Amino acid sequence: MILLVDGHPYHYEMENLCRVFLPYEEIKTVYEKKADTPESETVVYTGIEQQDGQLRLSVRLHMGGQMEKSEQTVPLSVLDEEKEAERLLAVMLFELFAQRCGYRPKWGILTGVRPIKLLRRLAEQMGLEQAIQHFQSGFLVTPQKTKLSAITMDNEQTILCRSRAESYSLYVSIPFCPTRCAYCSFVSQSVDKAVRLMPEYVDLLCKELICTAQVAEELGLNLESVYIGGGTPTTLSPEQLRQLLSTVCTYFPVLSCREFTVEAGRPDTVTPERLQVLKEFGVTRISINPQTMNDNVLENIGRRHTTEQTISAFRLARSMGFDNINMDLIAGLPGDTVSSYRNTLKQVLLLDPESVTVHTLALKRSSRLNQSERDGFSPDAGGASQMLDETAEKLFAAGFEPYYLYRQSRMVGNLENTGWAKPGYYSDYNVYIMDETHTILACGAGAVSKIKDPNSDTLRRIFNFKFPYEYVSRHEEMILRKKQVKELYELFRE
Ligand code: SF4
Repeated sequence: MILLVDGHPYHYEMENLCRVFLPYEEIKTVYEKKADTPESETVVYTGIEQQDGQLRLSVRLHMGGQMEKSEQTVPLSVLDEEKEAERLLAVMLFELFAQRCGYRPKWGILTGVRPIKLLRRLAEQMGLEQAIQHFQSGFLVTPQKTKLSAITMDNEQTILCRSRAESYSLYVSIPFCPTRCAYCSFVSQSVDKAVRLMPEYVDLLCKELICTAQVAEELGLNLESVYIGGGTPTTLSPEQLRQLLSTVCTYFPVLSCREFTVEAGRPDTVTPERLQVLKEFGVTRISINPQTMNDNVLENIGRRHTTEQTISAFRLARSMGFDNINMDLIAGLPGDTVSSYRNTLKQVLLLDPESVTVHTLALKRSSRLNQSERDGFSPDAGGASQMLDETAEKLFAAGFEPYYLYRQSRMVGNLENTGWAKPGYYSDYNVYIMDETHTILACGAGAVSKIKDPNSDTLRRIFNFKFPYEYVSRHEEMILRKKQVKELYELFRE
């Protein structure tokens, strides 16, 4: 499709909104209509012009041989209000698409990653009640998703309040997995290819951790939480895990921090030996991620483990004393139906984990899900949407609360990912990483440190090399980059 942008700078928002309704179309953004545009091509025109001291907003949608249009004139002062002209134009485009496509995406015109941040900002500006109203009438978010956002905002606040100017969390990246899932877009290498790299990777990661601990200590920072993720950290052998955790526990004040998570991730990597190492070093929270409890769906996504293995892994962890276990699920997987998803939810609730994180499938370009699998989804993703509705209903009833929520680009139905937990089991790290109000020092390949200025909203990122082979071969550069953390803090503290 062609997106025509005329007289305004909001092409990014307009593109994102077109993608909500036409997720699989390639969008070509142009600033001038070409005379040779074929009639069959979908063309969206969005324009703003000043006329007689006013602002004229126009949107036209030419699709399937039909043309719909919408126009409105607003005072010029709209331009003084932050993002107001953009919002008005987005609402007009949304309404035309919704009318033409016959459905209304539940998050309305919101295409950003962090809707809770927006709601919080609105609540600060206009009070909670008005913010909630504006979320629905101004951004066209449904009452149901607005309620989910308001409850999540309230719950995450208890965690955000604990973060101080000198707080930080530690993230450690283990970018290896037993096999690569079909929907995966992370830089994660399967063990087959990377097994020779792993010993050196762990050695160098430990060096980076020691350097990071020194920097944190010199800056007088306080460790709040530790998260070892990936990939699948339990792809490491028990000995490699011991080497890693022993370094973390020797050089960081882990005993005094509130949370120490290790993603056990793939149930097929959970063994008594590995869990024993996690126990030995005081890991407080683990994640065992089924994604689905339906074997045929697991096969579709290349997970190469069974539901039985998930159940055994979970029971093993419980029997070894793990009392804070998270399980990740995905709504909208290929081959899953509302009724088979219901089975997943039922089985997970029978296991009784302390938290459940429910993602919506994101159809990333770099994933292996191919076009024919994509074609299995209608753009309104009614199935995934119903799965999430039922999730909310069942998890609320089982005593869970939503405590963090975020969205990714290209999610089926423009839906959301939500972290649900029983009270007292919210993961601080998950809130901090999403809210971006707290420093995260990150080590390992693909890790991104986020350095938060305690006196402003400024957040600076320091990127590590993405791929393990780069991380290993250019490790000295990684260490030098860690030193930038000190420079940034010195700058912030001036
Ligand atoms: S377990 Fe996670 S990181 Fe690993 S391949 Fe699957 S989706 Fe990717």
